[in-house]
Amino acid sequence: FPSSLTTTNSNSPPFLLRYFSVRAMASHVVGYPRMGPKRELKFALESFWDGKSSAEDLQNVAADLRSSIWKQMSDAGIKFIPSNTFSCYDQVLDTTAMLGAVPPRYGWNGGEIGYDVYFSMARGNASVPAMEMTKWFDTNYHYIVPELGPEVNFSYASHKAVIEYKEAKALGVDTVPVLVGPVSYLLLSKPAKGVEKSFSALSLIDKILPVYQEVVAELKAAGATWIQFDEPKLVMDLGAHELQAFTHAYSALEASLSGLNVLIETYFADVPVEAYKTLISLKSVTGFGFDLVRGTKTLDLIKGGFPSGKYLFAGVVDGRNIWANDLGSSLSVLHALEGIVGKDKLVVSTSCSLLHTAVDLVNEPKLDKEIKSWLAFAAQKVIEVNALAKALSGQKDGALFSANAAAQASRKSSPRVTNEAVQQAAAALKGSDHRRATNVSDRLDAQQKKLNLPILPTTTIGSFPQTLELRRVRREYKAKKVSEEDYVEAIKKEINKVVKLQEELDIDVLVHGEPERNDMVEYFGEQLSGFAFTANGWVQSYGSRCVKPPIIYGDVSRPKAMTVFWSSLAQSMTKRPMKGMLTGPVTILNWSFVRNDQPRFETCYQIALAIKDEVEDLEKAGITVIQIDEAALREGLPLRKSEHAFYLNWAVHSFRITNCGVEDSTQIHTHMCYSNFNDIIHSIIDMDADVITIENSRSDEKLLSVFREGVKYGAGIGPGVYDIHSPRIPSEEEIADRVEKMLAVLESNILWVNPDCGLKTRKYAEVKPALSNMVAAAKRLRTKF
Ligand code: GLN
Ligand code: ZN
Repeated sequence: FPSSLTTTNSNSPPFLLRYFSVRAMASHVVGYPRMGPKRELKFALESFWDGKSSAEDLQNVAADLRSSIWKQMSDAGIKFIPSNTFSCYDQVLDTTAMLGAVPPRYGWNGGEIGYDVYFSMARGNASVPAMEMTKWFDTNYHYIVPELGPEVNFSYASHKAVIEYKEAKALGVDTVPVLVGPVSYLLLSKPAKGVEKSFSALSLIDKILPVYQEVVAELKAAGATWIQFDEPKLVMDLGAHELQAFTHAYSALEASLSGLNVLIETYFADVPVEAYKTLISLKSVTGFGFDLVRGTKTLDLIKGGFPSGKYLFAGVVDGRNIWANDLGSSLSVLHALEGIVGKDKLVVSTSCSLLHTAVDLVNEPKLDKEIKSWLAFAAQKVIEVNALAKALSGQKDGALFSANAAAQASRKSSPRVTNEAVQQAAAALKGSDHRRATNVSDRLDAQQKKLNLPILPTTTIGSFPQTLELRRVRREYKAKKVSEEDYVEAIKKEINKVVKLQEELDIDVLVHGEPERNDMVEYFGEQLSGFAFTANGWVQSYGSRCVKPPIIYGDVSRPKAMTVFWSSLAQSMTKRPMKGMLTGPVTILNWSFVRNDQPRFETCYQIALAIKDEVEDLEKAGITVIQIDEAALREGLPLRKSEHAFYLNWAVHSFRITNCGVEDSTQIHTHMCYSNFNDIIHSIIDMDADVITIENSRSDEKLLSVFREGVKYGAGIGPGVYDIHSPRIPSEEEIADRVEKMLAVLESNILWVNPDCGLKTRKYAEVKPALSNMVAAAKRLRTKF
């Protein structure tokens, strides 16, 4: 052995090491939360909207947030850093502004779109309502729906993408500008008012592409070398015509994209086979981004064939949840991919934009240490992406990887995660049925004997107005500034007030008003085992609105009764039936960060068992009507139709588990906050509740059409008779009219009269007259029978 090959000179690294560190494997982040670690953007926006601060103040806060995000990613070592994922409201609305697709009612006269027109579209103004908002795929984020028709004149009207690219560049960060892709943009739109239903938004593709070309040209001129088009619609069930639009759009853009590297990013599910074929054959595209967390079949697709010479952006770090990545297992997935696409063509990425996760764990000093070690918010996920990229290039951060492995191991074995008894009970539920033994019409008879209600009985959905005083008491009790005794006294007084008011109004089935609850999921999560809460784990829901989902980290159980004390107390104040008020398992699940170490249905079954215990305790305490809210059941519907049946099956089963053990004479209500359930009506019937109350007043026809089409509904039903989202007070006539419309399609003996949803956000000055008109309308109609 020639000694010169084995001895190393202490001044230069050994040959092998030098060889492997030639270039670091690339890392990428799809998008980043905008709100800021302490919701700085929310407060800046709201103060601007209230006229308390200037446009310049808002711009400054926004610019600070952007620069700190870019700096954070560049310090972490991320190679492909996104720009233009920041937004003052919504990225789809930003695209509408970029394309100048402003609906005429906002009175825009051309020129660069400013805050005025932009926020009018987002939130409405004194004379014009806002554009419609809807859920962004199956997330809790809501986007502003473009309104398109053959008349729209597109023009390049917002230079935001270019401005932000340059802004980052001036800070020394060369970013990848991100645009909502042209085909997804069109597919996310709805026809403008007056435009025929048969109109296809895709027919506008050649009208919007010129604007995209202008944007691309400017970005190129500004020095961009990569550009990212988000085309998440590719994960949906698309037809040949829609897939053809992708081929058409990206070949039409080919000339302007030449000289640029183009990434098409998909997320939230795997891409169906046909869409995958279309996607990988796009010639103008250099890289493809896939969600490898939710996209369970993506790996097989890639193994089945990936175009040579193209980049694979492998989304292994979960952008939608708060769990620390299992770095070891991601690394082996990445190694396998490396074998297919080649070492220099693999980019480590997030599964989707980090917009859908919390911002930074650093702001959780009170969170339990062990639980904290299992988590990663956006800031930590950036580090994970980079650590994986470095490990691939042979520069594994040993300390980080072993700390991560230790945390994964502690999560697997921690006694606070596993509760054998709960595991076994929940596992036993799969494949079983759980139904109340008697059919619903016989049950309704048994209940009526006990309840003795008039026809068209009146009720409300649960919450009554939450005054500032009430919020203060709750907050101070939580902070231990108010004694338990004083707190109970204050809540008791409030319940008494609500009970007396309902008696005066002559409502038939009462509620206690939920004054002890801040939030319908948090209230239960705080009392169940297996839940943790953050101080700043906010996620944008829409505009400046954020939610702070609880974290379900362990097996769920109920140490003790959660609502019996308040419900019994409320029942003791009145002779009328007092509804027990619970949140259902599916809603608790869908509004939380859910553990990823077992299937969702298993976690749901565990929650169902805990709620079942509560239902039975309420019954024992003499509560004869129990409402189990499933406000979010529809939200959990998977993106692909082929997966709907499986979800609906376990979701509906979970609901039935909660109440299959009660007497026939105990009346089970449920409530839902939406009316578009025409497609899931059979699942709703299969929930087998005795009474369902649903939002209805904003879309009368939709709901009624189900019954007009002959769907048999034998259980009690209360389609909301007035909109609680608005301060408007409905008249008696108007309510009576609505009820009469329903009587045309539903039997009078199953119809209930109630508002759309809870009254928490309204004022007493609105609630009293509205409910009084509602009761008067019901009474007037009763005389007709
Ligand atoms: N019972 C709850 C309330 O009235 C229901 C809220 C909801 O459906 N979102 O506030
Ligand atoms: Zn509701």
